[in-house]
Amino acid sequence: MPRVIIASTNAGKVAEIRSALSTPGWAFITVEDLGAEPLEVQETGETFLDNARLKAKAYAQHFGMPALADDSGLEVDALRGAPGVRSARYAGEPGDDRANNARLLSEMEGVPEEARTARFRSVVVLAWPQGRELVAGGVCEGRIGFRPVGTHGFGYDPLFLPDATPGRAMAELDLAEKNTISHRGAALRKLHDLLAEECLA
Ligand code: IMP
Repeated sequence: MPRVIIASTNAGKVAEIRSALSTPGWAFITVEDLGAEPLEVQETGETFLDNARLKAKAYAQHFGMPALADDSGLEVDALRGAPGVRSARYAGEPGDDRANNARLLSEMEGVPEEARTARFRSVVVLAWPQGRELVAGGVCEGRIGFRPVGTHGFGYDPLFLPDATPGRAMAELDLAEKNTISHRGAALRKLHDLLAEECLA
């Protein structure tokens, strides 16, 4: 069965990817499953696509098998699209979810509810060592809350109120429910369809 390595050490992302991609005929594994060390890939790109591609290609070449990378982040309209590609490191290096959320709340101080619109974006790239790739993207629209709520998920989930789940923060949704409405879930469903076509081809 062809194996695909997930190019991420973010446990939240890995869990979502594994839960969303149960493509028959493909096994999704991690660096941990191989007993190997994660690669340090510098995310120097200016777009989610650039960074997803950098990570997927580096893993595919290093491990000699297809690699799946997600690059994702939060775009807040009142902050002119920030934190965007810098979402993981918004409050500085090393990336820290609690500090990032604290910075976001402080930047949004005084912004009224109707102006707190935002979206998560995800771009997933599946790259083969020989250079082929499949690309898919997804978006999840919502608003930034006034205080953190919920314990599920990761990153900005406690501060993100998806339009699709009125009155509930992303961090109040379990894995399966988050995947049905999330940016990453949408991107992975598209990738799943592309892979299914591969299997049939
Ligand atoms: P990446 O690992 O460089 O793609 O960074 C993604 C960052 O964007 C994460 O560290 C989070 O801060 C944020 N992010 C992306 N997707 C999500 C999500 O589903 N929930 C919450 N935060 C997310």
